This record gives sequence, C-alpha cells and structure tokens, in this order.
Amino acid sequence: MQFFAQHSKLCDLYDKVAAGERISEADALRLFESKDLNAVGAIADLARQRKVGNRGSYILNRYINYSNYCILSCQFCSFARKKRDADGFQLTIEEIVHKAREALQLGITELHIVGGLHPSLPFSYYTEMLKALRALDPRLQLKCFTAIEILHLAWLARKSVEETLLELKAAGLDSLTGGGAEIFRKEVRSAIARGKESAEEYLQVHRAWHRMGGRSTCTMLYGHVESLADRVDHLRYLRNLQDETHGFVGFVPLPYQPENNEIPVENPPTGFDALRTIAVSRVYLDNFEHITAYWVGMGLKYMEPSSKNTFSTWLGPRRRNCKPKRRWSKPFARPAARRCSGTRFTSP
Ligand code: SF4
Repeated sequence: MQFFAQHSKLCDLYDKVAAGERISEADALRLFESKDLNAVGAIADLARQRKVGNRGSYILNRYINYSNYCILSCQFCSFARKKRDADGFQLTIEEIVHKAREALQLGITELHIVGGLHPSLPFSYYTEMLKALRALDPRLQLKCFTAIEILHLAWLARKSVEETLLELKAAGLDSLTGGGAEIFRKEVRSAIARGKESAEEYLQVHRAWHRMGGRSTCTMLYGHVESLADRVDHLRYLRNLQDETHGFVGFVPLPYQPENNEIPVENPPTGFDALRTIAVSRVYLDNFEHITAYWVGMGLKYMEPSSKNTFSTWLGPRRRNCKPKRRWSKPFARPAARRCSGTRFTSP
C-alpha cells in the first residue's frame, strides 16, 4: 500500500499523514479530485492504522421506523408519506415494543429508531416509547432521532432543545442518529431538502447533546448536485465541531440513492466514488475514531475493499430487519470484531 502513495503525485500528503500532521481543506480537495484510488486508499490506510490499528467493528441492530408520515417534503426523500397516501403508517408503542422484543431474541444490542416529522403525534408518544423500550432491557442501546426530529420534538414540547434532550435522556435515550446532515452548503441544501433545518441548527442540536455528555454520529449525503468542494466544506464543519466537543463516535458517508425521488442526477455515485469518499473522510476527519462503510447504502460488494484493504473502521450494522441476499465472504477477521456494548459502536 505504502508503495502506491509514495510513488504518486500525492506523496507529499502521505508524508504529511506519516508525520502526524493534519491535512488542510485544500489537501482534502486534492484527494477527492485524484483518480489514483490506490494512492488515496494507501494514505487512508495509514491514517486508519494509526487511529485504531488493524481492526474493524460491526453491530447487530434493528431499525424501526415508528412512522413514515412527515410534514416536510425533501426532494431527495422517497421515505416520507402524507396522511392521504395509502402506504403511510404509524406504529403504536405496543407494536414497537413487540418488534424490539423479537429483535432482542435474535441477539441485537441496539435499536435505531427514526421517523418523519409526524403531523400530530404528541411529545408524550416519544417519551413513552423510550420508557417502554428501556424497560425491556436496560443494556439495550437506544439510538433514536435525527437532529431535525429533535427540533420537531422541541417544538411539540414547547421547550428548548436542551430541555427536550434532557427529557428524552431521562426517558431512556442513549444516543442520537446522524441523519439529516445532507450537505451543509445552503444552496445545495435548498436544492435537495428545502424547508429542512439549517446546517447551524443541525450542528447546534449535536453540540447541545454532546455538552450534556451524549454521543452521536453524523452523516453526509453525497453524489447528487453537490461539488467536491461542497463535500470538503461539509467535512470541515464536522471536524470543527468534533474538535470542540469530541462527541461524535463516527462519521457515515451515505451515497445518494437515485430511485423514486425528484432530483435529476445524471451520474449517481459509483463504487469508485464511494471508496474514495470513505478514504478522504478517514484522512481528513483525524479526530473521529470511526468512519463507517455503510453496506446498506453501498452494497455488500464494497465492504471488503472499504474495510479490509483500506480505510473504514466500522462496517455498518448487520440488521435484523432486512436479510442480505448473500452471506459475508470473510470481509474481515470476525473473531477480532467487537460486538456493541456501549455507545462507541453505533449505527448511523
Ligand atoms: S424530514 Fe426526513 S422524512 Fe421528512 S421529507 Fe425530509 S428526509 Fe424525508
């Protein structure tokens, strides 16, 4: 691996990382613009080795969507429904507990619970849901809600974000999910997610949560109308907040899925782009322990190159509510991989 980087045009960046120096935004853009994936991967591999050694992690979790009704209509979203739609749904707390109980019997250690911004469920629905799930198993990780959901819940509760988070924490919330970051630059944001919270609001929710000792993940939705410079700008915000709070346990780059939405994207993300984005993130986000290869979005075939050979340190969830079509083909040394026992290993 080292050979590829040291004999490429990126050798100065390899030396920089080898010397333990932080790369700049201009450096990150060079890595994004490079077609030399071997060299980019070698630099990322060096950064990964230094951060966590030769180790990958995964988690057994279950995703539960309590509802797909949403008052917003983000242009890229194929999940949200309106009340008039025949395929809209909302689960009762009993139904959610039933799903969680089934999943616990299969050995999960985390629930990842998100939904749309429901038009009429009261705040008590969310706190009661958390309490009911907490009562099921005190060790179960309850990773729930995106930043925009927290803002919505604060509005419902007529409380500040901090007060809302404290109340959710008291009800059982362990960590926040990272969804909703999309791309922070305003112009891109309004092109793909008009009406959604601003970058500042997203970061402020996570900042508030981190300040009260909470942990969360963060994401970037890439491969639509953003430029490579927009991706670097996005990562810059995340690195800065992590310098400030150290509250992110991991970063999850999410490749844009072009099906069933309104954004005309001629060239959706390729496997090359997915691997390169994970690699650049690994190098630039030097204050993050984990970079996730999110197989649900990338596909299983990119798991091995993104983890074993190169640069991610967390391999996304093995979900219990969807069955991969094929089994793992030794993507990494299973015995060395660690099961979730706390907020360190969490899903996006
Ligand atoms: S807020 Fe979330 S669920 Fe609602 S439309 Fe936007 S992406 Fe979809």
